[in-house]
Amino acid sequence: MKVAFLDRDGTIIEDYSDEVWTSVTAPVFIPEAINVLHTLTLKGYDIIIVTNQYLIEEAYITQAQYEQITEKMLQKLEEKGICVLDIFYCPHRRDAGCSCLKPRKGLIMQAVDKYPQINLNTSVMIGDSDADMLLAQSLNMKGFGIGIGKEYKEGDITQVSSIKEVMMFIP
Ligand SMILES: [Mg+2]
Ligand SMILES: [Zn+2]
Repeated sequence: MKVAFLDRDGTIIEDYSDEVWTSVTAPVFIPEAINVLHTLTLKGYDIIIVTNQYLIEEAYITQAQYEQITEKMLQKLEEKGICVLDIFYCPHRRDAGCSCLKPRKGLIMQAVDKYPQINLNTSVMIGDSDADMLLAQSLNMKGFGIGIGKEYKEGDITQVSSIKEVMMFIP
């Protein structure tokens, strides 16, 4: 089973500064993200979202707020005919030293534990931050970095300027 692992904030929905997140209650989709998710599905990828949500334990947002935003996002995606297989998130403080804060591997390991049929060699990671690409790199997974503007000498990292552009490179 091949999976498209996607970051959430800044990749599928708009991202904000930590302080602004405090008053966010609904997701704003990034243009083209829904089309891209649809195309990934047609190409045979299962969709899994992996997201750092230190906002929760650092008290920028509540757990309930996280769940509300997630629920609204999934609802909208479902309306558009997109099935998200699962979401794994790290709620921990950045200084907690947990094993799941990207670029650490915990979230992907949780996914692989739950779905042992996942083949990381044919899976891809799509995200808008260095942490997402370092994670892809450390797992030898193909990575697509949106608007990162940094060269990666190792691994298989492709730079794109928008999520739409990812589709030109997806096998
Ligand atoms: Mg992001
Ligand atoms: Zn964590």
